[in-house]
Amino acid sequence: MRAFVIFCALLGSALSHKLFTGDQVLRITADSEEQLALLQQTYEREKHLELDLWREPLRGSPVVDVRVPFSSLQTVKAFLEHHGFQYEVMIHDVQALLDEEKAAMDRSRKRERDTGSFDYTSYHTLEEIYAWMDSLVAENPDLVSKITIGQSYEKRPLHVLKFSTGADRPAIWLDTGIHAREWITPATGIWTAKKIVTEYGRDPSVTALLNTMDIFFEIVVNPDGYAFTHSSNRMWRKTRSISTGSDCVGVDPNRNWQANYGGPGTSSNPCSEVYRGPFAHSESEVKSIADFILGHGNFKAMISIHSFSQMLMYPYGYSYDPGPDAEELHALAKRAVEALESLHGTKYTYGSMISTIYPASGTTVDWGYANGLKYSFTFELRDTGRYGFLLPADQIMPTAQETWLALLTIMEHVRDHPY
Ligand SMILES: [Zn+2]
Repeated sequence: MRAFVIFCALLGSALSHKLFTGDQVLRITADSEEQLALLQQTYEREKHLELDLWREPLRGSPVVDVRVPFSSLQTVKAFLEHHGFQYEVMIHDVQALLDEEKAAMDRSRKRERDTGSFDYTSYHTLEEIYAWMDSLVAENPDLVSKITIGQSYEKRPLHVLKFSTGADRPAIWLDTGIHAREWITPATGIWTAKKIVTEYGRDPSVTALLNTMDIFFEIVVNPDGYAFTHSSNRMWRKTRSISTGSDCVGVDPNRNWQANYGGPGTSSNPCSEVYRGPFAHSESEVKSIADFILGHGNFKAMISIHSFSQMLMYPYGYSYDPGPDAEELHALAKRAVEALESLHGTKYTYGSMISTIYPASGTTVDWGYANGLKYSFTFELRDTGRYGFLLPADQIMPTAQETWLALLTIMEHVRDHPY
């Protein structure tokens, strides 16, 4: 009987948790426009292969990273060889990496009663992150408070940390975790929030920053998606809202903003990973931020953090026209990237979003810029595809530390250039 109960428990957890046994991530290089077009057509048409695009081809670099389910591997490799594509196996067994990731989380899970004993070198569940937020606020009541700006689709609270030392200040917005599977971003966010608190009163630059401006930091923008990556499907990207008339779930929250909404780099198909949703701000995770920022009225900067690809980008995502502040933003991005690289030698590319990554519409930074937040940036953190979304936890600290130098460069500039 006991064995049967254990068997049922194991079966239950296996059924609820999507497995990726034998799945591989391939890096495919197209050596002509025709090859690239063939690849794109195949991806669009052969839905039954269940290909998961990790990295789209960039301008001038026809390289694609794609997760191929084990059941499609033979077909895909035969196709690639038949058409003469070069490819490389980046990850040999996705599930093996996930098992390592899970084991590392289990090892680090100890009693984390305060933000001092919290394990910043490990990935954490949503519950752990929310408990950590409460500790941070409780330990620093004069500096940090928690604001709930709304509710997710599945009714989870949307918490924002507010760092402030005075009333009626101009403000900087930071966010991580808008795409659920980009775990390195909330992990970096947690460390960064603790860093802000630690350095206030110690580092003259951070002190001057917080004596002039407020920082609002939403560490898990998409809590439903993030919880789902822990409970059910580590590869989940979108929100968890139900689409009427489709079996596919979720909207890409970084295509849902009212900024050239519905333009290039988005999809009207609910099954697409870049599904823009039924209308702009349909996702409460997006609308809550937009309402909060517009209601506040004095935000100067919006920095939204993604992974992976090692990039720092400013508007626009939907147009090659340089914005009115492109020169200043470009120079600032250059300085931020140099500061970042100075720590561990990590190389970033930078530029406007469309010229650096690919056309994208309805994005956070374009919305911020269109609504008067001149210093709008988006990061793509480590790495460049060796692990992609499955960045090992031992890279959390170096990633957070180097990113901090870039963030500080931008925030100092915002502080010193009031407008
Ligand atoms: Zn992302």
